Amino acid sequence: YSEQDSANDYLFKIVLLGDSGVGKSNLLARFARNEFFANSKSTIGVEFQTQKMEINGKEVKAQIWDTAGQERFRAVTSAYYRGAVGALVVYDITRRQTFDSITRWLNELHTHCDMNVITILVGNKKDLKDAREVSTADGKSLAETESLFFMETSALDSSNVNAAFQTIVKEIYNILS
Ligand code: GDP
Ligand code: MG
Repeated sequence: YSEQDSANDYLFKIVLLGDSGVGKSNLLARFARNEFFANSKSTIGVEFQTQKMEINGKEVKAQIWDTAGQERFRAVTSAYYRGAVGALVVYDITRRQTFDSITRWLNELHTHCDMNVITILVGNKKDLKDAREVSTADGKSLAETESLFFMETSALDSSNVNAAFQTIVKEIYNILS
């Protein structure tokens, strides 16, 4: 047992899901590099980012996958889902339609992954208060029905972004360790 060994103990694959434009790539950019792109096109995403995190004093690596725009063509491949132990399923609180798509994304996820994949429902763009179309109560209620964690975030002002990723990684760690 050494520090080196402990550093390599845990690598968790986590996938980002949700309609185009909800802010998936910016959530990842904010979390992994503390960056935000005001006019991002769907191609800013790399395939995945690996982020070291500390959970209960242990180093854990979260390998977070971004769709890089595939979702626009409903062509998220099975390779994308393969081996995922966690998922952030994201909607935009200012576009009701992206919330209505969540059930479809959950079905996709459960078609490709184990039913036990740890999932957090994320209502992004909470900074856009005046344009809100999905209430916090509706988000919470769906999360309860589907047994998901839930958080509202803003990749723009950073609120809850770390918390959302921390929640999921911590939960995966608790279950798999
Ligand atoms: P993706 O298609 O799901 O990857 O979405 P993007 O990350 O490319 O974001 C789509 C658009 O929404 C971009 O213009 C972003 O700047 C914007 N955006 C992303 N997150 C937020 C947010 O939290 N607040 C606001 N106001 N805009 C955001
Ligand atoms: Mg994207």
